[in-house]
Amino acid sequence: MKLRNNPLCELCKNSDLIVPATEVHHIIPVESVIGESQMYALMFQYNNLMSLCHSCHADIHRQMFSHSKEAVKANQRRATESFIDKFLK
Ligand SMILES: [Zn+2]
Ligand SMILES: [Zn+2]
Repeated sequence: MKLRNNPLCELCKNSDLIVPATEVHHIIPVESVIGESQMYALMFQYNNLMSLCHSCHADIHRQMFSHSKEAVKANQRRATESFIDKFLK
């Protein structure tokens, strides 16, 4: 139903790209709630859905895990590098 109403990728549309959506993303992950009834409520909550193309969907999930240890380490490395650039060169 979501894909029929929003057949275009909502993220690509933000950048003026017309890309057909092939996947539906749950903005609040269905696995994040406890209890079957809450899960069903989220699964069919229209506002919780986003039409996305495959590459945007992959991106959004990568971003959701960006507070993983690896990302934190990468951020720190970047912060350290810019500090060195500014002050130690
Ligand atoms: Zn897209
Ligand atoms: Zn998703």
